[in-house]
Amino acid sequence: MKNVTSKYLLVGLLLVVVVAAVLLWPREAGLTFTAGTYEASAMGFNADIRVEVVVDRTAIKSIRVVEHRESPLIADVALLRIPAAVVAGQTVAVDAVAGATVTSRGLLTAITDALTKAGGNLALLQTRPAAGPPPQGQLTERRADVVVIGGGGAGLAAAVEAHQNGATVIVLEKMPRIGGNTIISGGAFNAVEERRQKAQGIEDSVERHFTQTYEGGDRRGNPELIRILVENAAGAVKWLEELGMKFQERVFTVPGGMWARAIRPEMPLGTGFIDTLGAYIEREEGIEVLLETTATELILEGGRVVGVKTTTAAGPLTVRANNAVIIATGGFGANVEMRDKVNTVWPTLTSIKTTNHPGATGDGIRMAEVVGARVVGLEQIQLLPLGDPRSGSLAGSIGRSVDTTIYVNKEGQRFVNEGARRDVMTMALMQQRDAILWEVVDRDSYPTGDTRNNFDETIDTLVTQGRAFRADSLEELARLIGVNPANLVQTVAEFNAAVDRKGGDAFGRTLFGDKIDTAPFYAASRAPTVHHTMGGIEINARAEVINQNGQPIAGLFAAGEVTGGIHGSNRLGGNALPDTIVFGRIAGRNAAAARR
Ligand code: ADP
Repeated sequence: MKNVTSKYLLVGLLLVVVVAAVLLWPREAGLTFTAGTYEASAMGFNADIRVEVVVDRTAIKSIRVVEHRESPLIADVALLRIPAAVVAGQTVAVDAVAGATVTSRGLLTAITDALTKAGGNLALLQTRPAAGPPPQGQLTERRADVVVIGGGGAGLAAAVEAHQNGATVIVLEKMPRIGGNTIISGGAFNAVEERRQKAQGIEDSVERHFTQTYEGGDRRGNPELIRILVENAAGAVKWLEELGMKFQERVFTVPGGMWARAIRPEMPLGTGFIDTLGAYIEREEGIEVLLETTATELILEGGRVVGVKTTTAAGPLTVRANNAVIIATGGFGANVEMRDKVNTVWPTLTSIKTTNHPGATGDGIRMAEVVGARVVGLEQIQLLPLGDPRSGSLAGSIGRSVDTTIYVNKEGQRFVNEGARRDVMTMALMQQRDAILWEVVDRDSYPTGDTRNNFDETIDTLVTQGRAFRADSLEELARLIGVNPANLVQTVAEFNAAVDRKGGDAFGRTLFGDKIDTAPFYAASRAPTVHHTMGGIEINARAEVINQNGQPIAGLFAAGEVTGGIHGSNRLGGNALPDTIVFGRIAGRNAAAARR
């Protein structure tokens, strides 16, 4: 009897629970909106991103980015991909794009805001769509003669050269775009080239380039590798030109470059390099890039590197190399933890921003060490005194050539030779109040408002955005930037006197162009920023990776910023790009020939 009663009780209780659940369960309802066009904006990386969203009664029809000031090369993928993903999935629960997370988040906030204005239910909008079935037929193994890790300047040059030497090539790139740090670099390329330099009356020699590189790195660089770099830089320009790349004729001195031997591509920043090499890869058979494919481990068999393990969104992928693997993953400037671990040179790097793209995390160094590679000079980290104080980026810098620019501190006084080594200038800047400098130039640098800086921004845009200041007199400029006007006037007068004398200033400056005496005058503030990691994997003249015993590791090459031992303790401005192309090509050629 007792049993029967408890049974009824239990059934009754269950019924109550079921009824309650049915009543309280959220209704499975679709999205609804008030049809129309809605706008909203939210902060991105540089400034507000404004979007326009079109909805009908039940669906998000389209999303357009109406206005933004994100860096095109970094943010493009996010600006394209996020709106498309929201429309495709009818949800704002989409993943941020790697390398552009701040832009992605800003975009999603603006889109969510616009959709909420349209009456969309936030909880429903934020629901992740159910995961579909796992992709069918996903390959778990690929194969090529040469496998290149990293699709920046060195990796793409290596890939093209290997292909030109008869190899099939697969490039693995972890980001959603190729280009690495190369594409956002200023594009300055040092090469001793008689034709261009003579036309401007510049005397130079390969020997001088060698000496400046070797001495500039405190004789810590490997002279054999430096010689290869300086002797092959002009050949690298020719090779790129044969592939269709266009360089400007004008030769200039890049900050820390020590000499007027830098040329600049016609296309902005480093895009010309990536466009040229990328176009070759697109048009040729037997060479391809796998994007969003992160190399995690080198495969070692019988003492030889025979492939790479990777992760992709669709799962793990092994890429085997018939001939060899080339590591071209760039440096570790964006990896604060790794910087801190190796830094013995700078007072602190923890709070210093970087010019680097977010993928510069030192993966290649770690992978190489696991298979026994020797690394050199990791503590040699290059800073520039020319970072945007907020983001660390080089964008917004207004110096166009060293010989026409001065740097003043918050007191309006010069404090260093602007033609000095990069480490010397940055160390000097760190001693100034708030470690902030003002670049000061005049109309000679910007004859018109639409003259562009070295980062493809017009001076008018920079002034409108408040990133540069313009005034018709030095006193007014000083007031705009908050420095003592009398000091600035006196500083510039002393500098102009040194220009007349071609020397004899207090800082030992030797590079002089025009005086700073023609209105309008311009100023932009700059701060120390981590730029280049000079240490890395040790290589020999064939770009083979060297092991702990000083022997090459079979089947493994490296090139570009991931390598160490070329630039010593200080890299000459304008030497990074020739390094990537010259050694990328050497690695590519030798990897193509490294048949097992
Ligand atoms: P370099 O100037 O030496 O060519 P870059 O910074 O231009 O160096 O290019 C290095 C490239 O390598 C970047 O595009 C970066 O995203 C890519 N990369 C870094 N680590 C990995 C990894 N683990 N797997 C695939 N690609 C990587």
